[in-house]
Amino acid sequence: MAAQIIDGKAIAAEVRKQVAEDVKALQASHGLTPGLAVVLVGEDPASKVYVKNKAAQTVEVGMKSFEYKLSETTSEQEILDLVQKLNADPEVNGILVQLPLPKHVNAEKVLNSIDPDKDVDGFHPTNVGRLWIGERTLVPCTPTGSAILAKKVMPRLKGVNAVVIGRSNIVGKPMAALLLRESCTVTIAHSQTEDLPAVCREADLLVAAVGRPEMVKKDWIKPGAVVIDVGINRVPGENGKTKLVGDVAYAECAEVAGAITPVPGGVGPMTIACLLQNTVTAAKIQKNIKD
Ligand code: NAD
Repeated sequence: MAAQIIDGKAIAAEVRKQVAEDVKALQASHGLTPGLAVVLVGEDPASKVYVKNKAAQTVEVGMKSFEYKLSETTSEQEILDLVQKLNADPEVNGILVQLPLPKHVNAEKVLNSIDPDKDVDGFHPTNVGRLWIGERTLVPCTPTGSAILAKKVMPRLKGVNAVVIGRSNIVGKPMAALLLRESCTVTIAHSQTEDLPAVCREADLLVAAVGRPEMVKKDWIKPGAVVIDVGINRVPGENGKTKLVGDVAYAECAEVAGAITPVPGGVGPMTIACLLQNTVTAAKIQKNIKD
């Protein structure tokens, strides 16, 4: 039987609708309109598109958007000074510094200078620690979105055998932490894992965050498993054009899986929706408002 397709576009729209309602509720109860500041340094074309989309969607859900576009030659100190200014600004509840930063800037230093309670990317070591010890925190957006998609088709994650391929700080590790928080039995597989196909075949829930086009094959999938494909890879397509594919060989795996996310239209749209959700959470954390 063909797998159920998990429609990330539709589910992201549901998340944004909920965020818009949460914003209205915060305005009514506390006179508070959350604000998100996005800092873009340089001219990276993909980053420019992301920042434009983030700003547009921030405004769409009724929040304030502050955009800072700095030139490629901006010094590290100037960026650090801007972050300090935003840390102190009560109108700014979330701060996002778009990566990659130019080579002369120490990205880790900049990200670590963001107030952890305004760190809507969830990359600050304080938030990483809070996630692993189970405290209320800001969780990285892509794993949060991936978990929402998994729960749509697998509402009870307790005891589920989950395998996450990839151990990056941005996706793999926080994904594993989130699934552990949901009481899954979690295996983190990576480039040094032996017999990866056999490890994957044990998974009731398989999350692929590798960055290798269509690496996961049909015979790696346990029949009926839920497959979440985080990968975004640009590969040659037809007529000299390029196309996007995930880390999972979608067509063949969809023949075996119980449910699967497409690329594009799966995890991708969830990331910005979860960024908006994090901005509301950040505002609540700063004002000591319960969820
Ligand atoms: P990364 O390069 O930082 O990490 C990749 C991980 O995959 C590493 O931990 C590595 O150990 C593992 N890996 C590499 N080769 C492997 C192999 N042959 N077998 C098993 N494991 C292997 O990448 P990342 O930032 O975690 O991103 C992963 C993918 O997710 C990329 O395709 C990226 O574009 C995509 N991504 C998507 C979104 C989104 O919004 N949908 C967000 C972030 C990243």
